Amino acid sequence: MPNNSPTRALHALFGGTFDPIHYGHLKPVEALAQEVGLQRIILLPNNVPPHRPQPEANAQQRLKMVELAVTGNPLFSVDSRELLRDSPSFTIDTLESLRKERGAEQPLAFIIGQDSLLSLHKWHRWESLLDMCHLLVCARPGYSQTLDTVELQHWLEAHQVFDPQVLSTRSHGAIYLANTPLLDISATDIRHRRHQGESCDDLLPRAVQRYIELQGLYRG
Ligand code: ATP
Repeated sequence: MPNNSPTRALHALFGGTFDPIHYGHLKPVEALAQEVGLQRIILLPNNVPPHRPQPEANAQQRLKMVELAVTGNPLFSVDSRELLRDSPSFTIDTLESLRKERGAEQPLAFIIGQDSLLSLHKWHRWESLLDMCHLLVCARPGYSQTLDTVELQHWLEAHQVFDPQVLSTRSHGAIYLANTPLLDISATDIRHRRHQGESCDDLLPRAVQRYIELQGLYRG
């Protein structure tokens, strides 16, 4: 892990399918920003490869919902680069391009939930992720605290840091397990509720709910 001298503001990205974006995404990362001192979180809606189950909302609708969710909130910005490409991009490729743009010294972090940490070893070139960025992990209810194998658990422990200040003094390579609030909300559950005609109040921002209604999403 490189030990860079000057402290620079940590830039954090939060990728997801966001089908739709909900408070289980937004509230933990807002708390994370407080916990580690993040000035800005860049939301990165992703393109889904054709061999994987497709989102119900199209790329433009997912992007619009992300924008509506954070309008007027200076903590967030939205980066649509993955959606603008014709082909699905791997997270590692996006991180490599961001690293080139921002330079080797810039502290960069990628935010994931605990469920994504558990399946990280299935991501394309997952072991290279820490060469590009830190990983900030938000707690999520219902998921194991330990990784699947002893080797993966050792990998986690070898990179884990407990002091958030480390994240700004190094450019990449650390894993920080955050003490963020547990929200039992998933996009799957929201889509299911909509299909059943059940209320989704309190699960996602009003502006996103209104857009879902107007577009007739997750119905039928
Ligand atoms: P789906 O139910 O369709 O699989 P999801 O609700 O898990 O979707 P994604 O867009 O796939 O949402 O998630 C993007 C990122 O947000 C992932 O890293 C995931 O771990 C994290 N995340 C999603 N919901 C929560 C939650 N309730 N608490 C903490 N992290 C979450």
